[in-house]
Amino acid sequence: MIFILACAGIGLLLGSVLALIAELVPDRSGGGHNPTTCRQCNAGVSFIATLPFRTEASRCRACNHQIPAARLPIVIATGAVFAAVANVIGPRWQVLPVLFLSAAIITLSAVDLARYRLPDKLLFPSLGVGVVMLGAFALATGSTDNFIRGLVAMAAYGLLLLIPNLIMPAGLAFGDVKLALLLGLFLGWTAETAIGAARLVIFAFLLGMLFGIFTGLFVGIGRRIFGHGFVPDPDFPPPEDGSFEPLLRTAAPFGPALAFAALALILLSTRILEGASILA
Ligand SMILES: [Zn+2]
Repeated sequence: MIFILACAGIGLLLGSVLALIAELVPDRSGGGHNPTTCRQCNAGVSFIATLPFRTEASRCRACNHQIPAARLPIVIATGAVFAAVANVIGPRWQVLPVLFLSAAIITLSAVDLARYRLPDKLLFPSLGVGVVMLGAFALATGSTDNFIRGLVAMAAYGLLLLIPNLIMPAGLAFGDVKLALLLGLFLGWTAETAIGAARLVIFAFLLGMLFGIFTGLFVGIGRRIFGHGFVPDPDFPPPEDGSFEPLLRTAAPFGPALAFAALALILLSTRILEGASILA
């Protein structure tokens, strides 16, 4: 219990940092924003206005622009996910790589939901740290099998998502293919057999597709309730007559669906693989 609370606490603290990274990181169309300045007029904002727990009163003193409150959900999500990971894995070394993956996918998901982008500047460093981390644990524990399965699954999941990307690039962007490298690495590392690794990757793909449909429905329904400003796509402004696209054809970020499907399968892996998991 103390371990779960400690991880939740670390998650809450780390969540504020992740939220800042998600705001700052540039993507291929520029993007990124310094959270200590106003988005509208670039005037400096007070330190308190940059905190995730600030009040409605956080308006820019120069232009009265409301400073967006996107940080609190990231902070809460990080605390909750860290608690869930700690609860499933417990105080063992295996918790560290999964906490790292959680932090990476929360940050990537936050950027994807806000900008419909998975920036290389966030993805590739996460992948690099993941490879080094799992490699270091392989050396420390004297067992490289899981690490090698991770590397193979990394390539395999990337190739698997390349197929829908080539057929339908509008539905599954190349950023999602690159995200699959990171997810495949950790899915493969989790399994104790090659067949288990293949199973986790395929299940993660199928569950990701299902979550993706839910994300589209969620965004489509959200826009009908809250207007076109709900999870807006910067590349495709709403039609001028204000109409809505059909619910099942609402384009929505796919990264969070893929990422959280993979994390769910890693956390459920001992059951899915009947014990042949590194978390068993
Ligand atoms: Zn301003």
